[in-house]
Amino acid sequence: MIFTTESEVKNPEFEPVQKPLSRRLFVGAAALAGAGLFGAPVLAQTRTEQLAGRKGDNTSDPGPENKSLLEQNPSANNPPFTDHGNPGPIWYSFDLAPKRMQGGGWTHQVTQRELPPSHDLAGVNMRLTSGSFRELHWHTANEWAIMLTGKARISVMQPNGKMFLEDVEAGDLWYFPAGYPHSIQGLGQDGCEFLLVFDEGNFSEDDTFLLSELLAHTSPEILQKNTSWPRAQFDKLPPTELYIFEASLPDSLEAEKRFLGENLETENKYTFKMNAMQPTMKTAGGEARIVDSTNFPVSKGIAAAMVTLKPGAIREMHWHPNVSEWQYWIRGKGRMTVVTTGAKARTMDFNANDVGYVPSMAGHTIENTGTEDLVFLEMFKTARYQDVSLNQWIARMPNKMAEAHLKLDRSIIRQAPQDKNVILPR
Ligand code: MN
Ligand code: MN
Repeated sequence: MIFTTESEVKNPEFEPVQKPLSRRLFVGAAALAGAGLFGAPVLAQTRTEQLAGRKGDNTSDPGPENKSLLEQNPSANNPPFTDHGNPGPIWYSFDLAPKRMQGGGWTHQVTQRELPPSHDLAGVNMRLTSGSFRELHWHTANEWAIMLTGKARISVMQPNGKMFLEDVEAGDLWYFPAGYPHSIQGLGQDGCEFLLVFDEGNFSEDDTFLLSELLAHTSPEILQKNTSWPRAQFDKLPPTELYIFEASLPDSLEAEKRFLGENLETENKYTFKMNAMQPTMKTAGGEARIVDSTNFPVSKGIAAAMVTLKPGAIREMHWHPNVSEWQYWIRGKGRMTVVTTGAKARTMDFNANDVGYVPSMAGHTIENTGTEDLVFLEMFKTARYQDVSLNQWIARMPNKMAEAHLKLDRSIIRQAPQDKNVILPR
């Protein structure tokens, strides 16, 4: 373990203490409390020590408080001693984002407006009831999606006139390149819910190019010349956006593909079965599935990793050398620590439907703090997933280089995992 040096812990958030606190002292406290390095008992212990000889409890909070928020995020309320400075926000939740309700479903979004440092990616969470459409549209960002529940039919048309048409279910992905017009329709008895990720931080679901608006805002003369539709029919066209709206269920997939005939796109595959793929990495602590342009060729702008951590397991200390990370937490509970430049560090707790953010290249770790599996998505604005593993880096350091930097003996240093594990068990 690396937390065994005698170096003094400096944290300006805390009031001065009578004796310097060493990391060894924290480890001792953790062992006594039978808790993890960052567990609350460590803090309780060290705070007790800090408070020895003091008259008041400087951690008390006698004024008003939002109890349910504090219970969800104890790390924000009572930061671990490793937190320092302000690296910017790393947490938001779809459950704080107002829903746009429509007949046929709803949508809400977490973008750069909600999480200002997230300039690379934005997310939209959407529900479509059975038969309901997200209106035919296109946009300036690339769109990556994962089905969360239910079933949907998607279509996307290529500039060469071929249309891709497929049905998707929970755990499946789709990818629509910027500018390619597409549709999503809820299927089955209860439609679907899905997450969309766009490679523009300030993307807005309210700012897409819509079929209805293109028609409504082109003069009837031009529209008639363009379509040859009788002018008398134009009053039936939607006068304004449909956006999300109810419709009847489509014909069978086979029938719709048959209708397309040779105009059905079969070379490019715009869907991918992420849940069903073999894990890219599997250890005693869980598994990771990585999907980028190497195994999902159309996904040129966005890469993804779906990580499952067993209780107590961690996504090992690492960073991404090419891009920031945007996370969607699907299931379970966890805690993330992010360390960036100038010793700025923050730890936050996460639950299902939360969004996490890691600045480009910042070191980070995620721990499953719950009693069930934790599942989350790491999303990147890149064609190729990349990460640097701290353990693997240390393992490649020649002995004297490693000893000089870590102040540990090589016999201790080499006790660490000697390769990239991605996931480490409890
Ligand atoms: Mn779209
Ligand atoms: Mn990461």
